[in-house]
Amino acid sequence: MNDCIFCKIVDGTIPSTKVYEDENVYAFMDVSPLTKGHTLLVPKTHVKDLFEMPEEVAANLYAVAPKIANAIKSAFNPAGLNTINNNGAFAGQTVFHYHLHFIPRYDETDGLKVKWETKQSEFTPDVLGQVAAQIKENLNS
Ligand code: 5GP
Ligand code: ZN
Repeated sequence: MNDCIFCKIVDGTIPSTKVYEDENVYAFMDVSPLTKGHTLLVPKTHVKDLFEMPEEVAANLYAVAPKIANAIKSAFNPAGLNTINNNGAFAGQTVFHYHLHFIPRYDETDGLKVKWETKQSEFTPDVLGQVAAQIKENLNS
């Protein structure tokens, strides 16, 4: 896609700090990292988000995810690592070429908040069953 920043990074039109590349995926340093080692993994083919990702693209991308995670772990020995993928502007996506963030965590003051206030009381076992049924009905749509 001509106007996509990450397509331009993949084809070399825009410079990036490469971590890993194979025929299907490209991994590079986030230009505005949260922590040391914050890396992005993208498919070389333009895919807007997870909703539009063909299974083969997903298989190729996630096959590489442990390799990237373990390289970051070996390099920096973080206390933990979050992999985050935002789909849609409402969910925080700002670049509309799928990317998986690898964010190593060193301490609780790094500014990333991944805790949420649970709504468990609303989701009784009956409600959870109904919700699951709705998802199951739509698995192949
Ligand atoms: P999103 O908010 O879409 O999940 O994340 C987009 C990420 O891409 C951001 O963390 C941002 O710093 C990074 N980013 C945006 N433009 C560039 C760029 O030109 N080069 C690199 N390396 N990262 C970028
Ligand atoms: Zn793209």
